[in-house]
Amino acid sequence: MLEAATNLAVLTGAGVSEESGVPTFRGPGGLWRQFRPEQLATPQAFERDPLLVWEWYDWRRQKIAAVEPNPAHRALAELEKRTPEFALITQNVDDLHERAGSRRVYHLHGNIWLLHCMGCQWQERNREVPLSTLPPRCRHCGALMRPGVVWFGEPLPRKAWSAANEAAEAAHVFLVAGTSALVQPAASLPLIARDAGARLIEVNRDETPLSPLADVSLRGPAGEVLPQLL
Ligand code: NAD
Ligand code: ZN
Repeated sequence: MLEAATNLAVLTGAGVSEESGVPTFRGPGGLWRQFRPEQLATPQAFERDPLLVWEWYDWRRQKIAAVEPNPAHRALAELEKRTPEFALITQNVDDLHERAGSRRVYHLHGNIWLLHCMGCQWQERNREVPLSTLPPRCRHCGALMRPGVVWFGEPLPRKAWSAANEAAEAAHVFLVAGTSALVQPAASLPLIARDAGARLIEVNRDETPLSPLADVSLRGPAGEVLPQLL
């Protein structure tokens, strides 16, 4: 299927970064303190306690800064080189795909290195770890800065979402790797692709709601299965 496909779209989730040492949300070891990510990654949580939310993101930024891309990221970068039309859609807020060499990457849930001002809408890329001031403040207007990520209940970035939809509709093969396929609307992309005629390949350590719908479901760690596929 992959050899025949000249148009390939890939959807990745936290599972592809797990072998780099970035904790997933729903796996074992994915929790911090006694909080649930759903209760930290919301606009309401940030309003209630911006320092607590920032401490969590600062901790995640430190984790991501300290790790390297793994063979799953590298296999996907290589697949892009071999495929004429290729799009990598990710739910991850880390930059491990880019660091592995992927070029066309759509971040559906934002980027943990971006900061947005809540006052004047100023945006900046900031890779300081740990951040020197928590919570960070805007250098222009002094208002609170928030992480440039999509929280539960928020809309996805419009450009990335429409690019992801176009890629899903055009793909001959849609490859899904390391995502629980539970978080909407990202989880609808494989079905959009399938309705438009794509074959579905899933790579995951466990069964997911998508597994029964996939043409091929490969059970195993992405860092082993993807290089084998290649
Ligand atoms: P998730 O935590 O809900 O699911 C992870 C999935 O990956 C599970 O299905 C699990 O079985 C699978 N998995 C775990 N380790 C794997 C491995 N080594 N190989 C293959 N599969 C493996 O993550 P999700 O589906 O991406 O969804 C949730 C949200 O979590 C997203 O919104 C995303 O922004 C956020 N998130 C991002 C990061 C990151 O940027 N690295 C980390 C944690 C959570
Ligand atoms: Zn500002």
